[in-house]
Amino acid sequence: MGEESGKVIPVRVAVRLRPLNTKELREGCQECIEITQDSPQVVVTGTDKAFTYDYAYPADSSQGYVYETAVKNVVKNLFKGYNVTVLAYGQTGTGKTHTMGTTYTRDDDIEPGIIPRAVKDIFDGVAEQNECEYMVKVSFIELYKENLFDLLSNGNRDDCSVDIREDPKGGIKIVGLTEIPVTSLEETMKCLEHGAMNRATGATAMNAHSSRSHAIFSLHIQQSNSKKDESIVCSKFHLVDLAGSERAKKTGATGVRFKEGVNINKGLLALGNVIAALCEEGNRGHIPYRDSKLTRLLQDSLGGNSHTVMVACVSPADSNLEETLSTLRYADRAR
Ligand code: ADP
Ligand code: MG
Repeated sequence: MGEESGKVIPVRVAVRLRPLNTKELREGCQECIEITQDSPQVVVTGTDKAFTYDYAYPADSSQGYVYETAVKNVVKNLFKGYNVTVLAYGQTGTGKTHTMGTTYTRDDDIEPGIIPRAVKDIFDGVAEQNECEYMVKVSFIELYKENLFDLLSNGNRDDCSVDIREDPKGGIKIVGLTEIPVTSLEETMKCLEHGAMNRATGATAMNAHSSRSHAIFSLHIQQSNSKKDESIVCSKFHLVDLAGSERAKKTGATGVRFKEGVNINKGLLALGNVIAALCEEGNRGHIPYRDSKLTRLLQDSLGGNSHTVMVACVSPADSNLEETLSTLRYADRAR
């Protein structure tokens, strides 16, 4: 677990503000969120509402700065055998995918997000080690309406449902999941692109579908030291682009769409409850991992033997204030 002045920190929380977008500017929206200079504090302009996190990034923070300050050090723990999870939370359109770098492009104008930067550091780390041998595999799943889809399967997307099992030691295994061995940043990014394409063109892909599903890109790292004692150390790195946190009621959804909203909120709700339970001082009690597929899937990678960073993304626009406050409160519960 993360330690700072002796205190155990199971989850680190960052809030990232994006700039006003063209639509918000055109509609004459005003900025209503400020980041205090030199302190990780988020303030609602003109009110006494203020929240403090581990990190708070103003709209002009670069992708590189966010990675270097909030994620880079946590990634190093993978080499020590810890599981690491990075989650992007927030309303649709606030920068989750941009921050994670889930839709990777080779466009030089677009600054890469967390995934390509972390993967580069992992392979650089592997290259530096000469004591150990490494095997890295990737998987990519989508969680939609409590159903899991294997985004790296070559089969028909409808036929590639996979299931979660727990081994006797509490480790989570996904039965039937495609895991592709990779040896470089380029190979890993090809898998990410391939999966992202499957996600966009799959049978259930509809308007705004991706905003209502969770995308989980994972690296499974196996480290063996043949010179020492033949021991094998495994760690998992989950990079999670969460479903949009906006409430169903705001889109006026009913019927099928309302059910989607309810299920997605179920995953995010359960995640919030798990993180809050982990963060309760001296909590040794029940952690409600079983309340959703999302939390079951991440069960062995949240709390316990693992390091977690949550990046909560927010819009600065006054028209989004209600959703922004809901995100700030969600992120606040996680501390
Ligand atoms: P989400 O995944 O939360 O729905 P996106 O990552 O797709 O949101 O971001 C929506 C739009 O805003 C994209 O065009 C993205 O490039 C832009 N954007 C998001 N965050 C930032 C940022 N910090 N700086 C500049 N543009 C951003
Ligand atoms: Mg997105």
